[in-house]
Amino acid sequence: MLTFTDKSQCCGCTACASICPKQAITMKPDGLGFLYPVINRSKCIECGLCEDVCAFNSHYEKSDFSVSEVYAVRHKNISEIETSRSGAVFIALSDWILEKGGIVYGVGYTDHFRAIHKRATTKQQRDEFKGSKYVQSDLNTVFVQIKNDLKQGLYVLFSGTPCQTSGLQSYLKKLRVNVEKLFVIDLVCHGVPAPYIWRDYLEYVERKRKKKVLSINFRDKSKCGWTSHKESFTFSDKTVVCSTYSDLFCKP
Ligand SMILES: Cc1cc2nc3c(=O)[nH]c(=O)nc-3n(C[C@H](O)[C@H](O)[C@H](O)COP(=O)(O)OP(=O)(O)OC[C@H]3O[C@@H](n4cnc5c(N)ncnc54)[C@H](O)[C@@H]3O)c2cc1C
Repeated sequence: MLTFTDKSQCCGCTACASICPKQAITMKPDGLGFLYPVINRSKCIECGLCEDVCAFNSHYEKSDFSVSEVYAVRHKNISEIETSRSGAVFIALSDWILEKGGIVYGVGYTDHFRAIHKRATTKQQRDEFKGSKYVQSDLNTVFVQIKNDLKQGLYVLFSGTPCQTSGLQSYLKKLRVNVEKLFVIDLVCHGVPAPYIWRDYLEYVERKRKKKVLSINFRDKSKCGWTSHKESFTFSDKTVVCSTYSDLFCKP
């Protein structure tokens, strides 16, 4: 049975919850909103799959690459670069997958800007994933959905943080799923900020401005500059402002 006392040994990737044959594991938020597995002991059959699949295990195979290859890439279309946080590689790769009739998984929002991984089959749905959301995303049942898509022979692109892609690959490997049509993007990541700090920051901004936020653009190149690390907010009265409180949430 999965046990850990050190929170730094779990990134909330959901591999353990997804692989459990008895659905004995649910992901629950801690005091900061980070998701951790909680085991229902009465359902657990001690099969050990949750421990085996964990990418934080010492026996986890870290890389299949014998030699790394490095390319510097950016999109040919400048408007794609302007609306992406970096060079819009995600848009180029996901266009290719969608044009092959494949599925794209990336991060969008639910409720009031809670970051969550979602499934897209069209470019319109995929466009929601464009742009970094600087907060831990909830992977919910995405690993199981990816397994099902691959079993149907579909091309799949999953984009997420490196620990999320490690968890996904470990999960699929344990279940011996054919991953020939799976492509993963693990973005350069220093770590994910806490969901509840993000939620409280948003509440603070709305209280200060006395209006509701309608949309958010982290590191908005057009409003806040290409080198700044600030988010812009569109408010209910249609005003768009580059945040003056950014330092409260994330300091570059
Ligand atoms: C949590 C986080 C930490 C980062 N840390 C660094 C860093 O230390 N150094 C650095 O140079 N760049 C960092 N980045 C930026 C990131 O590497 C770029 O966004 C990335 O290069 C994507 O560039 P793009 O232009 O191709 O795509 P974009 O359109 O800018 O990015 C969209 C992609 O990011 C994914 N994504 C968005 N938010 C999340 C999230 N919360 N969790 C998982 N996936 C997400 C989407 O699914 C989509 O595939 C970070 C981004 C995030 C989300």
